[in-house]
Amino acid sequence: MATPTATSGPVTSPAAALPAALEPPQRVLMGPGPSVMDPAVLAALAKPTLGHLDPAFLRIMDELRAMLRAVFGTTNHLTLAMSGTGSAGMETCFVNLVEPGDRALIGVNGVFGTRMAEVARRCGATVTEVKGEWGRALTADQFRAAADGGRYDLVAVVHAETSTGVLQDVPPIKAVADELGALFLLDCVTSLGGHPVTLDAWGVDAAYSGTQKCLSCPPGLAPASFSPRAVERIQRRKTKVASWYLDLSLIQGYWGEERSYHHTAPINMLYALHEALRLTLQEGLDKRYARHALHARAFVTGLAALGLAPRVPLAERLNPLTSIAVPEGVDDAAARRYLLEAYGVEIGGGLGPMKGNTWRVGLMGAGSTRRNVELGLAALAGALRAQGRSLPGDPLAAAAAAYSA
Ligand code: PLP
Repeated sequence: MATPTATSGPVTSPAAALPAALEPPQRVLMGPGPSVMDPAVLAALAKPTLGHLDPAFLRIMDELRAMLRAVFGTTNHLTLAMSGTGSAGMETCFVNLVEPGDRALIGVNGVFGTRMAEVARRCGATVTEVKGEWGRALTADQFRAAADGGRYDLVAVVHAETSTGVLQDVPPIKAVADELGALFLLDCVTSLGGHPVTLDAWGVDAAYSGTQKCLSCPPGLAPASFSPRAVERIQRRKTKVASWYLDLSLIQGYWGEERSYHHTAPINMLYALHEALRLTLQEGLDKRYARHALHARAFVTGLAALGLAPRVPLAERLNPLTSIAVPEGVDDAAARRYLLEAYGVEIGGGLGPMKGNTWRVGLMGAGSTRRNVELGLAALAGALRAQGRSLPGDPLAAAAAAYSA
């Protein structure tokens, strides 16, 4: 490159073209994730980065694995955090457990069941979809009917379907997997830390989650756990795992005794997850689930006073995420824009057949608080009034009554 001289004129400083330093607006994240974070989790991200083979970091990884086992309700040795978001957890499970020609029976009653089926097909599985209504849980009989007496290697279902707000009862679907002699895979992305997850008691063979929902950690890691039976299946594979990055037989070398390099671990993200898990266990799992239930109940009670109805019947409803029918005549996108601009509150819109007619409000992890319940209700009231709606009741008084009940 030519050296600039006095005659060639000044070189424009690249700094002149640089954007301003990051100053993201403050938002209250009340959508389907990412969720509100505890400041201690964000502070953990800023701690000094260690080398990924530093003995001090390896100790942090071991602590993290022990805490993950506690939150997942398992003693599974192969419990770890995959590098990547929840979808990386999903792909890890399928790419390691499925071989071309395997048969998978997958519950599809929302976006994430649909995605599991797609990922399984990409791994070469022949997939039978157990198609259910969006906004309703699936039944064991629906799985049996879809299986139709066939042979299956894997049964998979989503525990907390974030696209619809449905909680799936797990043991009845596990019973079908047992009848078929199949491995049982569970998506716990939105349930982990918000609803009881007990992998060992349920007999789950493989499970994955994400960090940005009820664990209140930034997106970027996918906690995952595999039973001894799943590990044996992986060891007996006839074909190589198609993804080098997600190949558990290689990744175990780093998370296990050998500590051999596979890829550079996202060190600071693992600090954040360590802190998020520590806070989760410090609160106590049962207390945390009860907190999510309490605030979800108060929020739904307040919704009734706004003339809004949840989409999912009570017995199948998630606590960390409430899906709401957008009333006829209300502009969904304009209302969400109003919430963001007037209150700094983010909520989610609907997906798939629920696009344009559903709001999804998350009260997840550190965001599951009375303050957010009241803020969410006040903001929704403002958004409805801004569109000329009159409200049938006082949402804050209704929520307060639910708290004192
Ligand atoms: N599964 C469920 C139930 C989810 O809610 C999500 C994300 O919202 C995913 C899988 C995918 O996770 P991610 O978006 O973190 O990749």
